[in-house]
Amino acid sequence: MRILVTGGAGFIGSHLIDRLMEAGHEVICLDNFYTGDRRNILKWLNHPYFELIRHDITEPIRLEVQQIYHLACPASPVHYQYNPVKTIKTNVMGTLNMLGLAKRVKARFLLASTSEVYGDPEVHPQPEEYRGSVNPIGIRSCYDEGKRVAETLAFDYHRQNDVDIRVARIFNTYGPRMLENDGRVVSNFVVQALCGQPLTIYGEGAQTRSFCYVSDLVEGLMRLMNGDFIGPVNLGNPDEYTILQLAQAVQQMVNPDVPLKFEPLPQDDPRRRKPDITRAQTHLGWQPTVLLQDGLQRTIDDFRARLGDARAAQPVL
Ligand code: NAD
Ligand code: UDP
Repeated sequence: MRILVTGGAGFIGSHLIDRLMEAGHEVICLDNFYTGDRRNILKWLNHPYFELIRHDITEPIRLEVQQIYHLACPASPVHYQYNPVKTIKTNVMGTLNMLGLAKRVKARFLLASTSEVYGDPEVHPQPEEYRGSVNPIGIRSCYDEGKRVAETLAFDYHRQNDVDIRVARIFNTYGPRMLENDGRVVSNFVVQALCGQPLTIYGEGAQTRSFCYVSDLVEGLMRLMNGDFIGPVNLGNPDEYTILQLAQAVQQMVNPDVPLKFEPLPQDDPRRRKPDITRAQTHLGWQPTVLLQDGLQRTIDDFRARLGDARAAQPVL
């Protein structure tokens, strides 16, 4: 199959591309490199079945493909809040353009939506039926309201134009290849611990998240794309941890001497989050398999290698 992956040079997109290429598909990676990195897809650059297009999805594009995994959008609050108007444009105009492409070429379209559509949830854990508690005018709105519109667009193209859609609501995902300056909690803690710096806990660290290892997530995305269930479906690991527990786990695994530092909690930071994955289990036969301890170890090893390489490349003054 010829498959388009938007945001393919990013964290999740590049892991997905690895799986698709290994399965023998033809892959087109489309990315504007806002948070993506060419190194993530380096090993495929000269492969005859691989094509890289530098393109911003807020502009239309014509391509012949059979499936579209639509992942292009910065996912870290630091990056999506850096240029919120651009984030909205990417979610709304970008998704519109990619749905228009899917309609024209009759491609199956999978939207990478997010647990952020549930906002700061009053229902716990979150099932797909829950409609969310989202601040429409807050600093996270460019992302969470943007993704809510993206879901609306997907379902309207489906109802009105018969576009074959799939909608995944992805919960916090982590693993190798996250940017060192990504700003999300796992990469922050791991980089800080490896550099011997204090781990920055926002608030008291009592807020919770449920962390899914990237290989599990990619498996879920591929099952969704290739099955009959259109979603929305939660994809995430239901093992829930407080941020303080996560910090302590990283501390233990990397450097028990590194201190914890408490900083102000950002505005609208969700207090707790945990997926109800009944739908994914029922319709996709999917559930995560990688334990936090194991996934963290692989992530730590990856950052250790990359930070070591970066230091080795620094000129000695
Ligand atoms: P990422 O920031 O590593 O990857 C996003 C990619 O999209 C980057 O390569 C970036 O350069 C590209 N991009 C951004 N704007 C673009 C534009 N206008 N045109 C073309 N390319 C553009 O993030 P990620 O963690 O890999 O997330 C991928 C997708 O999954 C995103 O849509 C995100 O919202 C969703 N998601 C991720 C998580 C998570 O925990 N990682 C959770 C929920 C949802
Ligand atoms: N967080 C933290 N320290 C950091 C980065 C994040 O305590 O250095 C907290 C953040 O306030 C949030 C949780 O960790 O409560 C997850 O943050 P992240 O940005 O990874 O994802 P999201 O808030 O989008 O779930």
